[in-house]
Amino acid sequence: MRHEVHIIGGGLAGAEAAWQLAEAGVQVRLSEMRGSGETTAAHHTDRLAELVCSNSFRSDDAERNAVGLLHAEMRSLGSLILACGDAHKVPAGSALAVDRDGFSEAVTEKIASHPNIDIVRERVDALPLSGLAIVATGPLTAATLAQSIGAETGSDALAFFDAIAPIIHRESIDMDICWMASRWDKGETKDYINCPMTKEQYLAFHQGLLDGEKTEFREWEESTPYFEGCMPIEVAAVRGVDTLRYGPMKPVGLDDPKTGRWPYAVVQLRQDNALGTLWNMVGFQTKLKHAEQVRLFRTIPGLANARFARLGGLHRNTFINSPRLLDAFLRLKSAPHIRFAGQITGCEGYVESAAVGLLAGRFTAADALGVPIPPPPPETALGALLGHITGGADAETYQPMNVNFGLFPPIAERTKKAERKALYTSRAREALARWQAALPSRVREGPRAEVDGSCPAPAFEPAP
Ligand SMILES: Cc1cc2nc3c(=O)[nH]c(=O)nc-3n(C[C@H](O)[C@H](O)[C@H](O)COP(=O)(O)OP(=O)(O)OC[C@H]3O[C@@H](n4cnc5c(N)ncnc54)[C@H](O)[C@@H]3O)c2cc1C
Repeated sequence: MRHEVHIIGGGLAGAEAAWQLAEAGVQVRLSEMRGSGETTAAHHTDRLAELVCSNSFRSDDAERNAVGLLHAEMRSLGSLILACGDAHKVPAGSALAVDRDGFSEAVTEKIASHPNIDIVRERVDALPLSGLAIVATGPLTAATLAQSIGAETGSDALAFFDAIAPIIHRESIDMDICWMASRWDKGETKDYINCPMTKEQYLAFHQGLLDGEKTEFREWEESTPYFEGCMPIEVAAVRGVDTLRYGPMKPVGLDDPKTGRWPYAVVQLRQDNALGTLWNMVGFQTKLKHAEQVRLFRTIPGLANARFARLGGLHRNTFINSPRLLDAFLRLKSAPHIRFAGQITGCEGYVESAAVGLLAGRFTAADALGVPIPPPPPETALGALLGHITGGADAETYQPMNVNFGLFPPIAERTKKAERKALYTSRAREALARWQAALPSRVREGPRAEVDGSCPAPAFEPAP
């Protein structure tokens, strides 16, 4: 078979991209190192799309939840991952959870039996110099390939660990308590939201950090060299009661407009996306358990009703600085024959990884067929996620992100929370339908994954 596209990595993203391409009639070589004697620290089988931890694709509620909406959009675009997930669903309330073995066996079988895909069990050690390619090697990309990526992107644009500070929806911050200012503010730039603390509040908060329940490091995370570079806030707290007051919670140069004085300590939030809907807690990367983070961080003045778009964490995670490196179509700006997909782009989660794989597959298929397509609109879950990765996020503070409504253009009307979600989802449905209708006819119809039936015929005309 003459391959038109080389996909590296047969995880959630690589399998989905391969399916989208193959169903478009494009011939794919899918290189997966598991099964060749290689593995990662988290995988246990040589199946494609193995779920390395939980068996949940999270909420399946397409009316009120951003990941549920992403499911629905992926289904309408013929996602193999969603089709296999649906076929191997296990009871989990409103969530979509799957039988992990049945699921990854089904994905492997569909990909292996597709006439347009060759699975090659091999480790790839360098970025392809020519030909259309998609790199989907995930958070545990093999070291040799990571070196090659770092050589192309510059090592400062490739991270090996995420150090995530919690991210909060702007509208849930109480601005009657907090105020906007930069340190030593002269009234020109007021870039930070500041949450003031009294001495009593700070001491209680410091004690909360010491006492809070932490997530244990895995053995292979413990031996990692990142610790000094991005220290968890609770580890800094152990070093002394004032360490944080001289670090990220330093109050100097911040006059509280209510008192005209510097508070005893301050928590600062910095804008995290171009829309200004999401704000991250500066220096608050943490291994505190999620419930503990919510409880403790809501004791911070101004954050009593905070809604978290993302909670903090630290993990082994290879990802590139996509807002800086990729164009709007997931192409590497310095080598546009290469696309990136999946968690290595800095999206987070099984579903998001597969969604970015779906888009990379669709864009590459359109290129191979000579009918380029526009990105999905930002009002859709796919478009919002893509827009965040490829430019909406702040490149300076870029860290992996799940899909959430904070990535969508805000709803202008003043509406109640429950109604706002319905507005987001109805607007997304209309926008996706308009986008699909406007696609060139050769790429309008997506694949139709019929997991229990035989492999469907290619939905697109084969490449000439
Ligand atoms: C330990 C851990 C637990 C996680 N738990 C969850 C969770 O519970 N829920 C959730 O939603 N997300 C979770 N994630 C995050 C993420 O969603 C998953 O990692 C997801 O599998 C990412 O999909 P992917 O396709 O980008 O990468 P992967 O699914 O990891 O696929 C990448 C593939 O590339 C292969 N590969 C790597 N390097 C090479 C190479 N050089 N040549 C050839 N092949 C190569 C790998 O063997 C792998 O099969 C977790 C991540 C980790 C690391």
